Amino acid sequence: MAEADRTVVVIEDDPNIADLLDMYLRDAGFRVLQADCGLRGLDLVEQQRPALVVLDIGLPDIDGFEVCRRVRARSSVPVLFLTARDGEIDRILGLELGADDYVTKPFSPREIVARVKAILRRGQPDARDDHNVVHVGETYVVDINRREARHGGEAVALATREFDLLAHFARNQGIALSRQQLLDGVWGADWFGDDRTVDVHVRQLRKKLGDDLPLATVWGVGYRLG
Ligand code: CA
Repeated sequence: MAEADRTVVVIEDDPNIADLLDMYLRDAGFRVLQADCGLRGLDLVEQQRPALVVLDIGLPDIDGFEVCRRVRARSSVPVLFLTARDGEIDRILGLELGADDYVTKPFSPREIVARVKAILRRGQPDARDDHNVVHVGETYVVDINRREARHGGEAVALATREFDLLAHFARNQGIALSRQQLLDGVWGADWFGDDRTVDVHVRQLRKKLGDDLPLATVWGVGYRLG
């Protein structure tokens, strides 16, 4: 594995938390680079091209939302947010920042390591999958190995988790899936989130992919694609 593939940039101004994450992530085999403010973090992301960024929201210069926005302007590196308040979760999910996951403080360092590993695993294409290009409706194509969604031939930019959700729907076309099934299938059984997470991501998919997407709400159950 190349060095960049196991490099994690931790942007967190609380040295206790940063050192704790550093220790646990190193134990898990990652190379960890710390930044104690947003701008320094952006520099590290730019120079080191890490596999993942762990990002605190409350930072001394620019906040984590702004850091994420600037990272996203030039990179699709997965971002795991650290949040301290419920209000921040709504912003993470609602602002199309392209965050891949979040963990609320206080958290266990083991949970962070598990999340980091899960996010990086999701990014690995499964070369054995023969059914990797799925046509949805008349105009949509989901290319699972390339991690690309196309609408009328045009690629549509999706956050990591949005693509994962779309791919899961595509693999199960025509089947009504409950929110719990979607959480288990996309976020994993160890995810602590709730149904709202699914709803927010479905909303994002509809918004980004347009009204032609045959993604139906199945009342009392969940959602069905196709
Ligand atoms: Ca902070």
